[in-house]
Amino acid sequence: MRTPLIAGNWKMNKTLDEALAFARYLGEHAPKNGVETLICAPAPLLYSLADALAGTRVALGAQNMHHEAQGAFTGEISAAMIKDTGATYVILGHSERRQLFGETDASVNRKTICALKEGLTPILCCGESLEEREADRTTEVIKAQVISGLHGIAEADVTKVVIAYEPIWAIGTGKTASSADANEVCAAIRGIISDLYSDKAAESLRILYGGSVNTDTVKGLMAEADIDGALVGGASLAAESFHSLTTF
Ligand code: PGA
Repeated sequence: MRTPLIAGNWKMNKTLDEALAFARYLGEHAPKNGVETLICAPAPLLYSLADALAGTRVALGAQNMHHEAQGAFTGEISAAMIKDTGATYVILGHSERRQLFGETDASVNRKTICALKEGLTPILCCGESLEEREADRTTEVIKAQVISGLHGIAEADVTKVVIAYEPIWAIGTGKTASSADANEVCAAIRGIISDLYSDKAAESLRILYGGSVNTDTVKGLMAEADIDGALVGGASLAAESFHSLTTF
């Protein structure tokens, strides 16, 4: 069945020394058996972290990439560059990228296709704002984001995608969706995948919840049928805290 995935999103945090100390801790403290763990780090840390995490059960990912293979895109990094570091995952369409850096469903879709082509596992993020939730538009917003994010992706590839449901109002705010509310949206996403592809695809694709997940809430979230893991920001920054999330 679906392997649980606990993913840390460090965002724009940590120097090399801090990252290496974190990796050392994870080398000494293994995650629970059967749980896949992942750190999505700032790009400058990836090569060194790949070395430091070798031999641990912690995978490595980036937080964004450009959809073109190469060229005149100052400040951007490509899928091939990420792969070259040893990282195997990339977060795409995080709400901070959408809100602060103008990413659109269309650009997130191009990135997702490009990541798959390069053999990276995309973590495709979606989530509604507080205004949208209060207007009862959550399912409609998520559906539009998922459908456009996956546009043009074949069934053979879609099961390699991880979807992260991250309500914007819960990110970095300390307000977690209740396990039941989070599960309801994750189940709706599975329904969307089933309609777009097949029941089989929907059953094998992993769906994470993100938004103020911490060591107190992770267990309840992971007990839900349609939540296959967590994408964690704040609580992934301290090694002890991240490790305890991986032993939920
Ligand atoms: P948070 O961030 O856990 O700090 O809310 C989650 C995310 O943005 O992925």
